[in-house]
Amino acid sequence: DEMDVDTIWKNGEFLDWEDATTHVLTHALHYGSGVFEGVRCYDTDRGPAVFRWEEHLDRLFDSAKMYDMDIEHSREEITEATLELLDRQDLESCYIRPIAYYGYDSLGVSPEGCPTDLVLAAWPWGAYLGEEALEDGVDVMVSSWRKHASSQVPTNVKTTGLYVNSMLAGEEARRNGYVEAIVLNKEGNVAEGPGENIFMVNDGEIYTTGPAQSILEGITRDTVITLAEERGYEVHDEAVISRGQLYTADELFFTGSAAEVTPIRSVDDTEIGAGTRGPVTEELQSAFFDLVERRTGDHDEWFTYL
Ligand code: PMP
Repeated sequence: DEMDVDTIWKNGEFLDWEDATTHVLTHALHYGSGVFEGVRCYDTDRGPAVFRWEEHLDRLFDSAKMYDMDIEHSREEITEATLELLDRQDLESCYIRPIAYYGYDSLGVSPEGCPTDLVLAAWPWGAYLGEEALEDGVDVMVSSWRKHASSQVPTNVKTTGLYVNSMLAGEEARRNGYVEAIVLNKEGNVAEGPGENIFMVNDGEIYTTGPAQSILEGITRDTVITLAEERGYEVHDEAVISRGQLYTADELFFTGSAAEVTPIRSVDDTEIGAGTRGPVTEELQSAFFDLVERRTGDHDEWFTYL
């Protein structure tokens, strides 16, 4: 199959791809009541290493808590199942997708009575915004769609239903010839990308939006903040960034488990800085890849080795 997946773990069992199905009347399909994660595993000299697994599990359980979902498997069980899933498929460098969702019982909006299904899948996945994007940067547009306000729906947890907003913003951008979108919040300030956090560099200082701007506090965001501070940068991690500041920034880049560290070279056809990957972006991007590919021994506590 196209995704190179032959085994899926569901509710405690390893299933063949074609058997990993769910009923069309599943609650989550109708109401977006799923919570999920996206995690990367890197191929390193010490074997496959899952990056910041514990933090992703924390967020998965926080997301489930928000929707009163009872994940009936322990963290240890989920971790063991995930590692075995990679092992069974000989996956080295890959993307891991845990998802918990309300399954089938009845179709009232209330999930009362619906089981919480838990699924683990993994597949090889290259650079999310393209291999050249990591070096050359991406052209993005400011979407006409606004992010949900965190007073309307919790934006600090990762819920499947929220991604219709990401899809609209991303597809609008791609329809217009851009690679990705930047989404503003209800106030009209910068929130984040459809599946990425955003960073700005100005006069050698680093700015990124925080939870009050209706963002998901990314684990890659936290990683990059840590790497930047370790290198002596001042990081403003609750910044309010106006739309206008995007165009005049020295550098902009996206972060995310899928997008990793991707430079932004233009916004709405306005070149950012020199219109190429900026020096601070390059430094942090190298630090990130040196870290995750284990060319440095730093932060070994962030890795779960197969
Ligand atoms: N914001 C949104 C909306 C996302 O979907 C993601 C991807 N999970 C991120 C930010 C980045 O989060 P992380 O670095 O934890 O992948």
